[in-house]
Amino acid sequence: MKEILVTEPAFVAAFQCAGSACPDHCCKGWRIDIDKPTYNKYVKSKHIAIKEIAAENLLLDKTSHAKWARVKLNPTTGNCPFLDAERLCEVQKNLGAQALSHTCSTYPRQQRQFRNESQNMLTLSCPEAARNLLMQPDAMDIQQRVVLKAEFNKQPQQDQFQQLIGLFCSHLLLAGEGAIEDNLYAMVTLLMMAEKVADQGEAAVPLLEQTFVQLVDALNSGEMRQQRLQIKPDTDLQWSLLLRLQNYLKTRPAMRSQGVHNLFLNGLVHATFNLHQDDDAAGKMAALGKNWDAYIQPWLAERPWMLRNYLRYRLWQADFPQNNGRSMLQNIYLILAEFFYLKSLMAAQAVMKQGIHPDDVVNIIYSFQALTQHTPEAALRFHEEIDKVKVADDLSCLHLLV
Ligand code: SF4
Repeated sequence: MKEILVTEPAFVAAFQCAGSACPDHCCKGWRIDIDKPTYNKYVKSKHIAIKEIAAENLLLDKTSHAKWARVKLNPTTGNCPFLDAERLCEVQKNLGAQALSHTCSTYPRQQRQFRNESQNMLTLSCPEAARNLLMQPDAMDIQQRVVLKAEFNKQPQQDQFQQLIGLFCSHLLLAGEGAIEDNLYAMVTLLMMAEKVADQGEAAVPLLEQTFVQLVDALNSGEMRQQRLQIKPDTDLQWSLLLRLQNYLKTRPAMRSQGVHNLFLNGLVHATFNLHQDDDAAGKMAALGKNWDAYIQPWLAERPWMLRNYLRYRLWQADFPQNNGRSMLQNIYLILAEFFYLKSLMAAQAVMKQGIHPDDVVNIIYSFQALTQHTPEAALRFHEEIDKVKVADDLSCLHLLV
């Protein structure tokens, strides 16, 4: 037997579906694929109601065994036809959890595999997963256990250099007690060094360790903040990014969570266009920044884990620095641009409410993730939008931190 290390953040290990209490359950508003064995099980079921619902609402695609059919959602409510009046699943209720399709039995769980390691995740498009990540201070404590399997996983071993960079970045997000932007600035500094020495193999490791220790010291002493505040804001870049992302997200095809996201997006449009219609880009961005400083910063100071958990999880979810053909700075640019957009939604929300509620942050993050990260295609399209705004080089991401 082979030993496989299972690694997962604490909130992933402890996850339980909220069931009928879920504010935006996943059985609606997007494509639900049904694999071939499940399709046959339902259309031939001895349970008459299941058989009838399947016959009427499973549309054959036969794209692959995994995507044999898809569920036709109710055109009025967008709900899965197997949901009963209490929003409970007829299949699970009558045939048991083992009868669920692969999609239904695994969501929101995801797994990434390396030869001797399996890493468990949750998609944050599930509001309960997002809530647990943001509300539980220890949500990102990493847990590990060993399981025995007949064979190693088929995927290659994890790249040690990439793994080290990912660990350094995650730890940099925890250092110091200042604004999270200081930590992000430290991360970008580390990545610049990592890109410079990446081809030096083992010799690069002591250099990176030394840089990491210096950055932690600079975060603890407040020096990192002083350095970050020397960056000249590029409000044109910030404004073009916001406009492009707003336009892109407004024109996404209707899907689950879009209504929730639009509430916050409309708030951003109101805060930037209606309340500051005569201002130029610099004026609009300054107004948003003022709201962030006045309402959100003090609120976050009482919940210092909240955005740190989110960003540490984004790194974990992306397997940062990713080894995907893009440079480390290109990959961090995407995460910083997303973060800038989320911050803008939060700041705009604070204008209307003169403050922010934890539910707002959960709703902003889960609805955004549902629209942009739910499938690899959606993530790719979203990242293409960000690429269109970049000016000069990848270091222009620093302008999103001031
Ligand atoms: S979105 Fe999450 S909490 Fe809601 S029903 Fe689906 S798995 Fe459960």
